Amino acid sequence: MKEDREVKKIADVYGENVFNLKTMQKYLSNKAYKALSSTIKEGRSLTSEIADEVADAMKNWAVSKGATHFTHWFQPLTGTTAEKHDSFIVPDKEGGVVLNFSGKELIKGEPDASSFPSGGLRATFEARGYTAWDPTSPAFIKEGTKGATLCIPTAFYSYHGEALDKKTPLLRSIHALSKQTTRLAKLFNIPTDTGRAYVTLGVEQEYFLINKKFYENRLDLIQTGRTLFGRKPAKHQQMGDHYFGAIKARVMAFMEEVDWALWKLGIPSKTRHNEVCPAQFEVAPMFEEQNISIDHNMMVMETLKQTAERHGFVCLLHEKPFADVNGSGKHNNWSICGPDGKNWLSPGDNPHDNAIFLTMISALIKAIDEHADLLRVSVSSSGNDRRLGGNEAPPAILSVFLGEQLTDVIEQIEKGGAKSSKKASMIKIGETALPPLPRDATDRNRTSPFAFTGNKFEFRAVGSDQNCASANIIFNVILAEALDDICTKLESKGAEGTKFNACLQKIMSDILKKHKHVLFNGDNYSAAWVREAARRRLPNLKNTPRALTVLKSKKNVDLFEKYRVLSKAELMSRYEAYSQQYEKIVKIEANTALTIAKTMIIPAAINYEGVLGRVLNDIRGSGMNLKNTKALLKQVVQYVEKTLVLTEALEKCVDENKLEKIITCMEHLRESIDTLEGLLPESMWPLPTYAKMMFLS
Ligand code: ADP
Ligand code: MG
Repeated sequence: MKEDREVKKIADVYGENVFNLKTMQKYLSNKAYKALSSTIKEGRSLTSEIADEVADAMKNWAVSKGATHFTHWFQPLTGTTAEKHDSFIVPDKEGGVVLNFSGKELIKGEPDASSFPSGGLRATFEARGYTAWDPTSPAFIKEGTKGATLCIPTAFYSYHGEALDKKTPLLRSIHALSKQTTRLAKLFNIPTDTGRAYVTLGVEQEYFLINKKFYENRLDLIQTGRTLFGRKPAKHQQMGDHYFGAIKARVMAFMEEVDWALWKLGIPSKTRHNEVCPAQFEVAPMFEEQNISIDHNMMVMETLKQTAERHGFVCLLHEKPFADVNGSGKHNNWSICGPDGKNWLSPGDNPHDNAIFLTMISALIKAIDEHADLLRVSVSSSGNDRRLGGNEAPPAILSVFLGEQLTDVIEQIEKGGAKSSKKASMIKIGETALPPLPRDATDRNRTSPFAFTGNKFEFRAVGSDQNCASANIIFNVILAEALDDICTKLESKGAEGTKFNACLQKIMSDILKKHKHVLFNGDNYSAAWVREAARRRLPNLKNTPRALTVLKSKKNVDLFEKYRVLSKAELMSRYEAYSQQYEKIVKIEANTALTIAKTMIIPAAINYEGVLGRVLNDIRGSGMNLKNTKALLKQVVQYVEKTLVLTEALEKCVDENKLEKIITCMEHLRESIDTLEGLLPESMWPLPTYAKMMFLS
C-alpha cells in the first residue's frame, strides 16, 4: 500500500475500476455514448444494436483490467448481495477460445435462483429468476488475486415480473417521488429543466474490528455475528477515550487500504474515525444519488470485510456484537434535489420566506407521522432489535427533530403565517485569541431518529448490517404520497393566481396542527419520552414480529399499490420472507447458545468443581479453615446447576418454537453463564473475554 501511495495520486486511481461516463466516452462510439447517457439520465431504453456495442465496450475495458468473468450483481431479500460468475470465453472451432459478451447478456441474466427467499412469490419448482441491468448504477470491477470480475448492478425479478429484491422497489419509488416532486415544482414555477428530481443520500457506516485469533475461538461470532455470552469488563467504553481517539497503527493500515479500494471503485470515501466503543469505527463516504449511494454502501460493507481478513482482523457488521456497550448503526443522511438541480431542504438565510423548503418540511412531517409504522418496519431485524432503544440508538418510536430556528418558523406558520427567522449569532470562546465563530442556526440532536441537520435529515435508526434500500423505499413512497396530496390541494380551483400563497399557508398550517405531535426536540433516550410518546399515541413497535404485522394493513397495501412500488403479493412476500428470516436467526442463535453452553461452558465449570473438590479433599484434616473455599465451590456448583436447568428450559422453548420465550430464556442462560465467567479461572474459560476482544484488536 505504501508503494501505491507514493506512486499513485488519488485523482489518478479514483474510479479506475468503474465503467463511468469518462471511460464510456473512451470506449464507445459517439452515437452509443449519447444513447447510453440518455438511458442513464432519462431512463430511455436501448436498442439491441447499441446494447451490443455497450456490452462489447464493457468487456474490452474489463478485460484490459484483467477481468475473466462477468456477473449480474443483485440484492436479494437476504439483505446481502448476490453474484454468479460467467467467464467471457466462447470456444472457437479450432480448439481455442474467443472472449465475448453480448448485449443480451448485459441486459438480462437468468441465474437459477430458486434458493433465494421469495416469501412465497415462487415455489422451488418455478425456479426461474431474472436479473435486469440497472444502467443508472455503473458497472464496476472487483479485483481478485489472479484475475478480476466485471460486476453489473441489476434488479432481480420472477418469471411473472414480481420483484424478488430490494433494488426493484427502490427504483420504482425513486420514479414515484420524482414524479410528485416535479409536479410540485411546476406549481411553484420552478424550472424543471433536468426532467427529474432525486434524493441525495450519504451513508455513515459503523463497524467493529476484532483480532481474527479471538474470532476463531468464538463459535457465537462465527455462527451468529454477535457474542451470545460475555461478562462486561471493568473498563469498556465508560471513559469515552476511544471516540475520535488517535487511530492505532494496525487499524490505520486497514483503513488506508479500505480507502484506496473504495476510491478505485469510485466511492467517495471521506471520513474515518474511532467510534465510542473500543474496537468500533466508522467510515463515511460523501453523499451521492440515492440508488448509487445504496449500491456503494453494499460495496463498502464487502470491502470492509474483505480488507479486514487481509489484516488479520474480522469486521463485525452486526448491530450489537457486544452486549451492554454501543452497537453499530448506519446513519442515512437524506435530502432531495428538485428538478432545478437544487437542494430543496436547504433553508437559506431566511427559512420563513423559503416556500418550497417549508412545503417539503411540512410534507415530511405529515409523511412521517402518518407512516411511522412503515419506517419502523424498514429498520426491523433481529440484530437491530437489540440496538434500537439501547442507550446509543434512537428508540423504536419515530419522531422528528427540527431544532430551535425551524421549530420557531413552524410555530409561526401554524398560527397563521411565518414572518421572521431567528438569526444565527456568533460564538465567542472566552477571553482568548481565538476568533469568534458563526454559530449554526440549530444545535444537533444526537438522540433523535430523524433529525434536521442544516440542509438534510439524518435517519439514525437503520442497523449497521441492513441494506438501507428498505428505509429509503419508505421515505420515497411516503413523501411521494404527502406531495401528491399537497399538489392535489394546490391544483384545486381555489389555489389559482393570488390565492396560491393563501392556499399554501392553509395547507401547511393544517398539516402542522394535525401532525405536530410527531415533533420532539428533547432527549429521545429518556424514559420520560417513552411515556410522553405513549400519551401522544405515537407507535412504539418494540420488536420485529410486531413491526412486521403492519405490512399487512390495508392502509399500507393501498399506499404501495397506489404508487406502484410493490403489489399486494410483493408486499406480502416481504412479510413472509422477513418473518421467516427472523425466526431462523432466533433459532440459530438459540442452538448456538445451547452448543456453547453444553459443550464448552458446562464442561469447563465442572472441571473447576473437580479442582476445588480435590483441593478440599487433599487438605481436609490439616486443621486449616476451609470455610470460604467451600463457599466458593458451593457457588460454582449452584451456578452450574442453574445453567443446566436453564439449558434444558431453552431446549424446550426451541422445541416448542416459541420465539419470544426463546429470547427470554437465552437472556436468563446468559446471566448465569456470565456469572460463571466471573468465578472460573481465566485459564479454564473456553471463550476469549470481552476485554481482550475489545482492547486487543
Ligand atoms: P456527521 O453527521 O457525522 O457530523 P456530516 O454532517 O459531515 O457528518 O455529514 C454526514 C453525511 O451527510 C456525509 O455522508 C455527507 O456527505 C452527507 N451529506 C451532506 N450533505 C448532504 C445532502 N445534501 N444530502 C445527503 N447527504 C448529505
Ligand atoms: Mg451523522
